[in-house]
Amino acid sequence: MSREQSQAAFARAKQLMPGGVNSPARAFGGVGGEPIFFQRGEGAYLFDLDGNRYIDYIGSWGPMILGHAHSKVVEALQAAVVRGTSFGAPTLAENQLAELLVDAVASIEKVRLVSSGTEATMSAIRLARGYTGRATIVKFAGNYHGHVDSLLVAAGSAAATLGVPDSPGVTEGTAKDTLVLRYNDVAGLGGAFAQHGRRIAAVIVEPVAGNMGCVRASAEFLAALRQLTQEHGALLIFDEVISGFRVAYGGAQSLLGVTPDLTTLGKIIGGGLPMGAYGGRAEIMDQMLPAGKVFQAGTLSGNPLATAAGIATLTVLRDTNPYEELERHSTRLAVGLEEAATAAGVPYAVGWCGAMLTFFFSDEPVTDWDTAARCDTRRYARFFWGMIEQGVYLPCSQYEAMFLSTAHTQQDIAATIAAAREVMQEIA
Ligand SMILES: *Cc1c(COP(=O)(O)O)cnc(C)c1O
Repeated sequence: MSREQSQAAFARAKQLMPGGVNSPARAFGGVGGEPIFFQRGEGAYLFDLDGNRYIDYIGSWGPMILGHAHSKVVEALQAAVVRGTSFGAPTLAENQLAELLVDAVASIEKVRLVSSGTEATMSAIRLARGYTGRATIVKFAGNYHGHVDSLLVAAGSAAATLGVPDSPGVTEGTAKDTLVLRYNDVAGLGGAFAQHGRRIAAVIVEPVAGNMGCVRASAEFLAALRQLTQEHGALLIFDEVISGFRVAYGGAQSLLGVTPDLTTLGKIIGGGLPMGAYGGRAEIMDQMLPAGKVFQAGTLSGNPLATAAGIATLTVLRDTNPYEELERHSTRLAVGLEEAATAAGVPYAVGWCGAMLTFFFSDEPVTDWDTAARCDTRRYARFFWGMIEQGVYLPCSQYEAMFLSTAHTQQDIAATIAAAREVMQEIA
């Protein structure tokens, strides 16, 4: 499989952009080698510059749940673009998208649209701090909430110590207002609240984690999150930028039976265009300017193209309810990968929830960042490149989830499993 055109494009890109990319997740740091440049997507497939076709299991890292260039989304965008691309003033489309979000997500009474998931989490924690008058934010190792300074924080040396910067450019002053705890660790959470409870403004958590691979929160952990935040007057923020409209139409919260105070959304709700949102109880959301005093604004917030793509995507999802079929397909894929690994004698653990899954090269269950970090990432890299040669585009990191779309057919899944059977033998 030749990728000469991609290689030439990447050589030029490296001269123009740091590392040759506009987001580090694309740079193949986790698997080595050079990224592939794409010219177009159609349904479940991506076509690279050299004309190679791949079955795509990234879906732009989550948004493309209907597959690429879905006709309803394309039509909505074509209709919107000729009416003008941005007014900086209210539009009916914003009402429509807000209504879809409020109707779909039980905990959201009012919502604000922004332009990325990062903007949504940044704003939600500002709101939580403004609402509670407190400073400290709790997050969990292995959860990702965008590149907000106060969330780019790593755990300090001891459990429940204050955080330390996880990137140059994040100050210690910022990091010390963030506590980083272990995911699924009920005792650690209890200890942190016992020690810092009165200072905690909010706990932000991925209720189904997608950014250390797919890892579910345990029922006990979720119950403890809800109970401890309530007892201590802190807000519970579910970051559903990935899980929203993916694991279920109503988000992970509709499956888990836990109601957060605030929810952040992104990815799917923009149908492939820049979009994010945060929402929750009206009484909390009304703290935002101009109803309240917490500042947040955006020139392109709720712009006509992003809302058109988002409305089209959510309307298809609502009207066709593809979630059972998506789950059947991802179960079929998970079982097929398990059988391929077993036949080759390769140890594995599967993280799975609805239309997202991660095949961990691990000989123990993955429940938090410590167990995820023990995966055999070198074996994953060989698996990734083997699958590329077979025309299957997987996430370029062990720690990113595979995403299925409604465009993936049974034949696509079967072809993927057949490819995996060969590649597992090569990497055993
Ligand atoms: C992708 C992601 C974000 C950040 O969204 P961007 O649109 O990339 O800024 C935040 N939280 C979670 C859980 C995500 O997966």
